[in-house]
Amino acid sequence: MKLKKLKINKFSKIFLFGHNGLIGSSIFKALKKKGYKKVYTFEKNILDLLNQKKIQIAFKKYNPDAVIIAAARVGGVMANKKFPYNFIYENLAIQNNIIHASARNAVKKLIFLGSSCIYPKKWKKPFIENDLTLSGLDKTNEPYAVAKIAGLKMCHAYNQQFHSNVPKFITLIPPNLFGPKDNYNEHNSHVLAAMLRKFYISKISNKKEVIIWGSGKPKREFMHSDDVGKIIANFLEVPDKVLLSFTKGKFSHFNIGCMRDYSIRELANIIKKITSFEGKIKYDSNYPDGVTRKLLNSSLLTKIFPDIKKMDLSNKHLFEKKIEKTYKELTLSLLKNFEKNSSYNLPI
Ligand code: NDP
Repeated sequence: MKLKKLKINKFSKIFLFGHNGLIGSSIFKALKKKGYKKVYTFEKNILDLLNQKKIQIAFKKYNPDAVIIAAARVGGVMANKKFPYNFIYENLAIQNNIIHASARNAVKKLIFLGSSCIYPKKWKKPFIENDLTLSGLDKTNEPYAVAKIAGLKMCHAYNQQFHSNVPKFITLIPPNLFGPKDNYNEHNSHVLAAMLRKFYISKISNKKEVIIWGSGKPKREFMHSDDVGKIIANFLEVPDKVLLSFTKGKFSHFNIGCMRDYSIRELANIIKKITSFEGKIKYDSNYPDGVTRKLLNSSLLTKIFPDIKKMDLSNKHLFEKKIEKTYKELTLSLLKNFEKNSSYNLPI
């Protein structure tokens, strides 16, 4: 396989899949801000990523230099429980189609997105990249996690087989995300969006209490999608040999967390304050807690980008400000976006 010679530059052709989603839209903004001139995106009705043939046609036609996969079947605990088949089939198909087309077309850099749920359920200390095993996954989203691990391994296998382990195709693993394009659907939103929705609705309907699922004790690491979008755009520009100096050819994935987590109780109190909800918070332990902790060890990230601390990713005050901004955006768009992913209600 012959690789295109030029390095990624502002005139490189970049395929960004999933540009309408939470992270995809933030990556798009970050690439544009950095001055990338040729960011190619496709609407789902034009290019359904389950369609391998159409993907191959798109690659042949535009011959991209780099590819970012932010398209996936994504959802919260309920959606994962209700549609386990869709979560494994669609994610495997989307990533398989795109990674293989990228390999066949010798793209210079591919970025795939993993998820912190690929690490084992048992948490002792922040997960480092080498903690990845194929056992001990949390049952609530196992099909989704298995698909993500397959994508990560496929990227690594490509580097092993065709590039002597140089990490050309990489997987980035963010923690829980929130941001302007989050999904507030009642049935498949993630924890922070679900809480913002709950507190908002309780406030405007003058409810006396908000009920949070589970004990409130588990901890989660959160990042704003725009911060993650910037990090992903920056990764495009890291020379292969720099990445290789960290991976030593043993893996091709990197954690991209903020290295701080909050209990669900702490988060609920922050959101109560931001939404000015005056009622009580109750915890319903009849609902499962999920894993107790998923904090990532992202020290490799700070080694690759020594300036990253400047973004103050782990600063609590800034975290609260970002939630506040997201809440404002949510209330501005009112309830109309809540049903964004109504297609989840369709049968397979
Ligand atoms: P979103 O659901 O917000 O966006 C996913 C995008 O993929 C949507 O724009 C969706 O389009 C598109 N898509 C899905 N299926 C298809 C298809 N068959 N053809 C074309 N487009 C399709 O997800 P996120 O931005 O939250 O997640 C992006 C990536 O980041 C995923 O890989 C996810 O696993 C990972 N990630 C997300 C986290 C989070 O907290 N959200 C945390 C860690 C990792 P449409 O809306 O039209 O269906």
